[in-house]
Amino acid sequence: MKTFKLMATCAAGIEALVGKELKDMGYTCQVENGKVLFEGTAYDIAKTNLWLRTADRIKIIFGTFKARTFDELFEKTKALPWEDMLPLDANFPVSGKSVKSTLHHVPSCQSITKKAIVTRLSNYYHRKTKLAETGAVYPIEVSVLKDVVTLTLDTTGSSLFKRGYRTEKGGAPLKENMAAALIQLTTWFPDRPLYDPTCGSGTIPIEAALIGLNIAPGLNRHFACETWDIFDNDIFEQVRQDAKNQIKKDVTLDITGTDIDGSMIEIAKRNAEKAGVSEHIQFKQMQLSDFKTKKEFGILISNPPYGDRLLDEDKVHHLYQQMGQTYAHIPTWSKYILTSDLAFETYYGQQATKKRKLYNGAIRTDYFQFWGLRPKKNTEQ
Ligand code: SAH
Repeated sequence: MKTFKLMATCAAGIEALVGKELKDMGYTCQVENGKVLFEGTAYDIAKTNLWLRTADRIKIIFGTFKARTFDELFEKTKALPWEDMLPLDANFPVSGKSVKSTLHHVPSCQSITKKAIVTRLSNYYHRKTKLAETGAVYPIEVSVLKDVVTLTLDTTGSSLFKRGYRTEKGGAPLKENMAAALIQLTTWFPDRPLYDPTCGSGTIPIEAALIGLNIAPGLNRHFACETWDIFDNDIFEQVRQDAKNQIKKDVTLDITGTDIDGSMIEIAKRNAEKAGVSEHIQFKQMQLSDFKTKKEFGILISNPPYGDRLLDEDKVHHLYQQMGQTYAHIPTWSKYILTSDLAFETYYGQQATKKRKLYNGAIRTDYFQFWGLRPKKNTEQ
């Protein structure tokens, strides 16, 4: 099978997590800003689309070259073997972006790229009339960075965060791949309790259950490349079947999600049902200050309101204060809280063990981490 140069794209700040996921799957990769580079066959494209929990998209890097003029862009694009990927009826929209480059007018870059590919394919397929573009979609991107052009084909289609289980969401939902990233940044192991006190539509508990049960996040969705000629019909069937066989049947998880808003709890339950994990999560309506537990060494992950999004500032600060007071009673638990309020610690009343800058969509946030006490090693045998 042919090997492609591939790129897994992701939100700024979580590249290393995508790199770790790829390494754990056995790939050698290179972590860069907002993306991770690796190589693989059509089978690997199917597998990574199905399994990567924190990435946005898997793209094929079809060509890279320097270009400072539109002529160069046209000729170098036309010189690439597009017919290897695109059949006669391919529908190939071209999107674009340009950063710090001579070719800075993005619509022109897009139309020149399109024209070059059309010319190449028309010559190859001996067509004098317009290409029909009635077949499978091959989303192409022309990206220019410091005069270096990268032409990619998007194998994913709608972003990987769309797992398909979340049909309903509240006012400020986390993207599913961001929720998975928040979990992977903790020390949670599926044998420990995991608790989200502001669970909203249930994204964090549901992603944790998918991890705990080893359910591939993309098992219930489709990908742009499934209808491409290079994908024999059985590649996706095979990776899906393999994924189904890898689901753990005999694990007991201790995952809880609560929220003050009863209608969100109903939504969270329906989403968990759709994701096939409802029997592994307890959802309950509750305000966070009512939390009590005898359990130890749990992991608490929260994406509370940030002010101006869901609640006004004073109420948000009061909520952060309540969090600090409530969680002071569970010193063995590690608490991880994502908020855009950079003064969070002042209200929470404790200095974070560690902070990590992350982007929740366009919002710059910090992931405040308050590590709990470590379980004592049992030295008596
Ligand atoms: N991560 C969630 C979104 C959380 S938005 C998702 O992906 O859907 C913040 C949530 O905090 C809202 O659902 C809101 O109802 C809840 N909330 C606000 N005040 C609360 C309180 N005092 N106790 C518990 N939950 C609260």
